[in-house]
Amino acid sequence: MIVQDCRVLIMGMGRSGQSAARLALQQGAKKVVCVDANPNAPVVPDTIAVYGPHRKADFIGGPGGAWEFERPDFLVLSPGIPPQIPELEAAATAGIPILGELDFAQRCIPSNLPVVAVTGTNGKSSTAWFTHQLFEHAGLNSALAGNIGRPLSELAMDIASGRTLDVAVVEVSSYQLESLGQFHAQIGAILNLTPDHLVRHGTMERYGAAKMRLFENMGPDATAILVPDIPQLPPDRITLRTNAPTLRWIGRQPGLELSQNAIVLSGTPDDGEISLENFQLPGAHNRLNIGVACLMAVTAGVARRALNLRAISPLKHRLEPVHRESETQWINDSKATNIESTLAAIEGVPGPLILLIGGQGKAGADYTRLRPGLAASAAAIICFGASANEIAEQLDGLPIHISSTMKDAVHRAHALKSEGTTVLLSPACASFDEFPNFEVRGDVFRQLAKGESQ
Ligand code: ADP
Repeated sequence: MIVQDCRVLIMGMGRSGQSAARLALQQGAKKVVCVDANPNAPVVPDTIAVYGPHRKADFIGGPGGAWEFERPDFLVLSPGIPPQIPELEAAATAGIPILGELDFAQRCIPSNLPVVAVTGTNGKSSTAWFTHQLFEHAGLNSALAGNIGRPLSELAMDIASGRTLDVAVVEVSSYQLESLGQFHAQIGAILNLTPDHLVRHGTMERYGAAKMRLFENMGPDATAILVPDIPQLPPDRITLRTNAPTLRWIGRQPGLELSQNAIVLSGTPDDGEISLENFQLPGAHNRLNIGVACLMAVTAGVARRALNLRAISPLKHRLEPVHRESETQWINDSKATNIESTLAAIEGVPGPLILLIGGQGKAGADYTRLRPGLAASAAAIICFGASANEIAEQLDGLPIHISSTMKDAVHRAHALKSEGTTVLLSPACASFDEFPNFEVRGDVFRQLAKGESQ
């Protein structure tokens, strides 16, 4: 894309917006104006920061705005911002193109770089990370970007500065998919869909429709990988298209199936079994995630025998073993911010369990779904934080304890633990009532587990 001499408006100055602003400057933009409703949003050097309540003139030009007698050539939208706000509608009506950050970044990347994209409610980061590791261990130059923490715009800057790559693995959120634009992947996977982010999307149908957009721009030489039998993810939306990508299934042929101790691939350039004997990470969900990672790597041309499952490491804060003292194991699953992920943890971690659950719960969350798994394996359930009482009520009858904060809950776990127990932080809730984010929550848990003071 030619950004040289363009006037660029960036909306939303989180990490993606800041990176997009720097990318626009690096690509030679004449003027970069950044808007954010937060008056204290970070300022990117050499841009014009217009922070605080939005003014229409900053979006479409005109008196009283940052553009004076000009107007932006295009607008780059951060994923945090819902596309339906009035200023964006005004820009669209004025004919100003609105590009999502992923779209903008990909337009600045050479078009022959294959992109492998992963979305879903849970497992996006793990699967993207596994796929990236498989590529690297097979000798390819791979980079990880997108929702996983490093915006694609940063990768685009690296590439423009001379970094050479064979493939980019991009984690894509439903928010990013809402402003998909022309973004397209060579291989894309939707892992699963369960209730989450409904405050933004409204209904499961709209949430599923946002996820399905991943396949929208894929051509006939691309591969769409889909979990079957989810009404909000209808495969005919792919197959009924002319020029549709090849469809492969998660858990069904052609695609990947899991047998007792192997992944079985079909409909790929190198069909057959991949043993799971050397795969060390716990949980059926991780076996599925690595299965999808293998399917994507082999579809991209990696030979099955070049897949090194023994070398796969977990991501921090996802069922991450953080401490062991004699026979007690401590596991940090702070990233489990919804019930599905906590279900996966309870199923994947051997008991007897001391589960730490709580924080800022989502409206209407049904914690009773955890009952069967907990009845089988929980020695103690310590509910903490803003949702402690709500969770305790729904799990009534199980061995419940209540703590006001996660820190207190860890102290309680130290008192309750015995030989052979696993202490698992898998909160099923957001962290914001006590911590700035799930990473800090997990780091504090790790320190307290080790008995380090906080
Ligand atoms: P995401 O990026 O989609 O949030 P992560 O890989 O960061 O996914 O994992 C988030 C949480 O969900 C962690 O607690 C993890 O253990 C759990 N998880 C990972 N993969 C799956 C899956 N396929 N199904 C259900 N839960 C999962």
